[in-house]
Amino acid sequence: MSRATAIHIDLAAIGENIRALRAPLAGQRFMAVVKADAYGHGAVRVAQHIEPMVDAFAVAFTEEAVMLREAGISAPLLILEGPHTASDLALAGKLDLWPVIHSDEQLTWCKTLGADLSEAWIKIDTGMHRLGFAPDRLSSIRDTLLSCGIGEVTAMSHLASAEEPGSVLTKSQLHSWDEITGVWPDGSSLHNSAATQYALSAPSDWVRVGYALYGGRVKGLQSAPPLRPVMRFTSTVIALRDVATGDSVGYGGRWTAQRESVIATLPVGYGDGYPWGAADGTPVEINGQIAPLAGRVSMDMVTVDVTDCPNVSLGTPAVLWGDLPTIDDVAAHSSTIGYELMTRLTQRASRIYHT
Ligand SMILES: *Cc1c(COP(=O)(O)O)cnc(C)c1O
Repeated sequence: MSRATAIHIDLAAIGENIRALRAPLAGQRFMAVVKADAYGHGAVRVAQHIEPMVDAFAVAFTEEAVMLREAGISAPLLILEGPHTASDLALAGKLDLWPVIHSDEQLTWCKTLGADLSEAWIKIDTGMHRLGFAPDRLSSIRDTLLSCGIGEVTAMSHLASAEEPGSVLTKSQLHSWDEITGVWPDGSSLHNSAATQYALSAPSDWVRVGYALYGGRVKGLQSAPPLRPVMRFTSTVIALRDVATGDSVGYGGRWTAQRESVIATLPVGYGDGYPWGAADGTPVEINGQIAPLAGRVSMDMVTVDVTDCPNVSLGTPAVLWGDLPTIDDVAAHSSTIGYELMTRLTQRASRIYHT
């Protein structure tokens, strides 16, 4: 017996996305961002599959990196938040991790403990005001890091509004970045998915790509490469019923039939990570057709109006997101972003990997 609700991960699609994303790059090195369990896709499986295709990986914090090293990943691994504690820094030396250094506290650990590291990145705050040093401190911090024993120092910054290249905020950050890289002697990295080099021209030796890797649709990519969704969230029809005009469906009776309707029930809900906030009308694919969600999402089930879908019966397969609807379509109906939908999937539905 097995529950049909599952999360299918198409590893071949990640490989194709990397090729498509790399093709227009002019020699920039490619860092695959696999934080948050590779955006819900399974960091170890994803990293093992794509290690030969990328130059480095990035995760958010040390524990995420330890998991990858323990699984045999030997590629360079950047810790985006850097060490949270002095012992994180010591571990970075032991496991050959590249920490991002963004705070004076981290600098103090480097000075007092030494840092025998092949590389570290310095985070510069060009206007996002979340992490990083002011640009005018860059050169003295670089000297400090080199004197602690760090072999090479790459400058990095992050754009708060990369999908809006013309915004005042982006322009101001780019201006600051140009001044920094104009005098910076070593490597640099600015671009996330939305900023990838061909969408936003600015000096950057490394791109740091997360969401686009998984086939998420990134606004701001004018010459968007053809990306394939890597994740397909599937279920199946376990109940069908006719409801009369005026009958309501589900918790709170949010949805009311405006005509005689056929309602299909699928065994998937917010307990699996499908968003509770999904509105009536959120697209669900059933048997190759798009049908609207009808009624509140329950913990274990959703209800879909299949009145206009022929050939729906018990056992008919359904897709919550994948090629159609895309995760971005579902997010747009649920007051959230595809990034959140990917990363808040629970462990309840099994992951099935396809190569
Ligand atoms: C998560 C993250 C990225 C990747 O962003 P995407 O939009 O998923 O490509 C890049 N840089 C930093 C600093 C990040 O935190």
